[in-house]
Amino acid sequence: MLRPDYLIVGSGLTGSVIARALQDAGRDVLIVDRRDHVGGNVHDHKHASGIRVHTYGPHYFRTNSDRIWEFVTRFAEFYTYRAALKTLVNGEHENWPIAASYIAKHIGNDWKPEFTGTPSNFEEAALSLMPRPIYEKFIKEYNEKQWGVPAHTLTADLCKRFDVRADDEPVLKPDCKHQGIPRLGYAHLMRQMTKGIPIELGFDYFERKSEVQAQTLTIFTGPIDAVFDYKLGKLKYRGQQRAHTYHADTQEAQPCGQVNTPMHDQGPAIRTLEWKHMMHPDEAKPIEGTLLTTETPFTPTDSGQYEYPFPDNENAQLYREYRELADNTPGLLVCGRLGEYRYFDMDQAIGRAMLLAERILKDDPDADRLPNG
Ligand SMILES: Cc1cc2nc3c(=O)[nH]c(=O)nc-3n(C[C@H](O)[C@H](O)[C@H](O)COP(=O)(O)OP(=O)(O)OC[C@H]3O[C@@H](n4cnc5c(N)ncnc54)[C@H](O)[C@@H]3O)c2cc1C
Repeated sequence: MLRPDYLIVGSGLTGSVIARALQDAGRDVLIVDRRDHVGGNVHDHKHASGIRVHTYGPHYFRTNSDRIWEFVTRFAEFYTYRAALKTLVNGEHENWPIAASYIAKHIGNDWKPEFTGTPSNFEEAALSLMPRPIYEKFIKEYNEKQWGVPAHTLTADLCKRFDVRADDEPVLKPDCKHQGIPRLGYAHLMRQMTKGIPIELGFDYFERKSEVQAQTLTIFTGPIDAVFDYKLGKLKYRGQQRAHTYHADTQEAQPCGQVNTPMHDQGPAIRTLEWKHMMHPDEAKPIEGTLLTTETPFTPTDSGQYEYPFPDNENAQLYREYRELADNTPGLLVCGRLGEYRYFDMDQAIGRAMLLAERILKDDPDADRLPNG
């Protein structure tokens, strides 16, 4: 029987950042993860050609926080990468987010929003930002493919994820102070972050619960409904099926790392990734050929494939019910993107985990006794 003071289920960013903070403060920590690698979805691997692939979809690291940047660069060197995406509309690679000049060229400058007031759903929110023909080309069907439901049934909040660029700025997050990708990859970053922390990989907490018992706190970063054996029902997620094709005779197939295919008649995939664009130029240059990956959304039943919490009121309500159960279970903290049923960017996941670690250390009954406490 393993008896750590703090048992951390999940070695993604949330679990690893908390584990790092607790171990650095002298606490007795054990991480278990059912996957065969650390890092959760922050992971990459190399294709036979030498091209580095982000295993669970493209990850662009960005933060405005000096503290979070100092934290990640403590473990790995990053090279600057400012993601700029395109979307394929009428056979042309157009800027994503949408450039105001595109709207001016195709609609004119004197259009009025079709919807004004407080939007009650995604479609109304989008129509308050742009003319309908633009919404229909760039947004509507993309989101229908992504979520598998009509756009008007999605929550208005989803519109906060994009804007119309008055200045045509092509960089996805131009104002973010620190932007980059780890020089030796995400898997290296996460191995360094968890260096020296006891970890059991290939260890499913639910299957092997009898082998481990936290003395102070179990920090669970997997799906919140699983902790309660789905007794209130299952929260819904979307995932992506990834299909990789290597093209030996092509050096560059598209103008940037990510090209969206927003219309139904372009097929079910929502985007194509070309990984060489995301590699450090010195690493990418000598590699022959290119690797393309299409991402096609689906509704996973295996929780290992959960990626995006489903943005509707029904699931938000079900989550609130599970949250109440979790908050009233002594000795248990449920957190992270699956535990809080929220999409967190990596810097948000790190910031949140740092805050939780500070709270855990403050509440720790041994705080005065332990070294660095
Ligand atoms: C497709 C996609 C693209 C993304 N792109 C970006 C991006 O460009 N920029 C950005 O900043 N962020 C991006 N993110 C977000 C980023 O992946 C998250 O911020 C991060 O993964 C959150 O870490 P986490 O630890 O909360 O969750 P996870 O990484 O999911 O870690 C949870 C861990 O818990 C483990 N686990 C679950 N259940 C059990 C169990 N029963 N027993 C043992 N272990 C268990 C899992 O195996 C996993 O390792 C993206 C996310 C997705 C889905």
